[in-house]
Amino acid sequence: MIRRNTIQKNLILNTVHDLKKHATADDIYNIITQKQPSVSKATVYRNLNILAEEGKIRKIEVAGGPDFFDYICEKHFHVRCIKCGQIFDVELEPFPELKPSTRNSSSMQFLDYDILFKGICSDCQETN
Ligand SMILES: [Zn+2]
Ligand SMILES: [Zn+2]
Repeated sequence: MIRRNTIQKNLILNTVHDLKKHATADDIYNIITQKQPSVSKATVYRNLNILAEEGKIRKIEVAGGPDFFDYICEKHFHVRCIKCGQIFDVELEPFPELKPSTRNSSSMQFLDYDILFKGICSDCQETN
């Protein structure tokens, strides 16, 4: 059982890496079932979240939409096309001097931040 789980997990990890783009769990599931029809959607979803927690892939949470998964694990930012919903990488240095504080007196332990830009991708610009 453990062996089978490891094979499935590696298959899911390799699929995210081979895609070389930002994909939703549904996208990844559709590709995996072409190779391994027996893998369930729940297995794909569960393993994607485990891999993200382990830092092997990166999960991008998008408000009002499905999560995306990214093979690039280093800190980087994204832009989302408002027309087609695709996610692209953004070239932007992280801000080492960012020092947030809360407005009220409650103390907050800040852990991380994400920036999601909005834009219109080149494909969608052409179809305007
Ligand atoms: Zn687009
Ligand atoms: Zn990315």
